[in-house]
Amino acid sequence: MSNNVIFFTQVASVVAFILTLFGIYRSLVSQKDGVIDLLREQLRQQDIKIKELLSHSPDVLAKTLSERIEIAVQEIERLKIDGGHHKKKINEKENELIKLKEQRDNLSKLITDTDLVCPDCNSPLTKREYYPISGYVDGRDVYSEDEYSEYECGLIIIGGEEESPCNGDKP
Ligand SMILES: [Zn+2]
Repeated sequence: MSNNVIFFTQVASVVAFILTLFGIYRSLVSQKDGVIDLLREQLRQQDIKIKELLSHSPDVLAKTLSERIEIAVQEIERLKIDGGHHKKKINEKENELIKLKEQRDNLSKLITDTDLVCPDCNSPLTKREYYPISGYVDGRDVYSEDEYSEYECGLIIIGGEEESPCNGDKP
């Protein structure tokens, strides 16, 4: 696995994690304790997963997000212990999360724009290579480069043409 693949797998984990975190704050506001406990457990597991990934390939972005999430988790713990009289604090946290969500959206857009995920099912890119091509145009040899992209779902694109179809699930 290339560093790029590891990186974007990490990014996908972080994105999923942020979504989970968003769910937690929504629940906090509506004071559904059972749901909060469940989501908190999921959040912990995601956090452990991110830390494992970081130990394989430290990445500044993922590390920063992980640290911020850690702080948010501690904050939730505190709010939970103190009881349900922290509407203002919760609103502040919600705003922080909206900013994190914007960062996530920008990152997702970047990943999509650069074709680092399958356009149909969002599977990560597993291989990208450039190879030289040559031809004979107007009486002279011309040289150029073509692009080979292979995705985890089976999609292969060579020089802009689909060579092998996507077998992934649609999101
Ligand atoms: Zn696909």
